[in-house]
Amino acid sequence: MTNIIINEYALKKQAFFLHNYMENLNFKHFVENEFMSDVEKTVAKIPKSHKDLIKDYKFKSESGNTLGGKGKHVGEIDEKKKHIKVAAPYNYSREFTILHEISHAVWKYKMTDQLKKEWNTLVKNTKKEQKDKDDKTKDAKDSLDQNAEEIFCMVYSNVYSKHPTTTYDHDAWKNFILSRVPA
Ligand SMILES: [Zn+2]
Repeated sequence: MTNIIINEYALKKQAFFLHNYMENLNFKHFVENEFMSDVEKTVAKIPKSHKDLIKDYKFKSESGNTLGGKGKHVGEIDEKKKHIKVAAPYNYSREFTILHEISHAVWKYKMTDQLKKEWNTLVKNTKKEQKDKDDKTKDAKDSLDQNAEEIFCMVYSNVYSKHPTTTYDHDAWKNFILSRVPA
């Protein structure tokens, strides 16, 4: 009798374990699918030639605020490994981070030296007025002191994101992304 009870208990335990395991698997699957459908929606908004830059890339998401072991990084694009990895930062949407990483490729492959010069000049001449807009927090102001490529990536993300931030919302900057960056 005792044996049977133990076996039943073991079976129940196994069934319970299996059930949990399957639920976790489904959840993981669900999260991954949801993430990929987010990625597809995000990428659908940018010009085709920009999309082509990351055509055979894999997209990965991590659950922490920053990417493990990488300091404050919330995203990375790796040309050799052909992947874009994003964390789940509290201050930006995953969509924003994905766009940011893609725009590093846009900066590298679509922007000519002449265009980069144009962008540098534009940012140099307008950064102060952007900082002085009265809705800026200190962090927001400081983030406008990043180099020209990082500002470019933030503005690019802002233009195509569902959740733009006021920090990078500047008409001339937006205009540059939409009309000067080769599509
Ligand atoms: Zn960046």
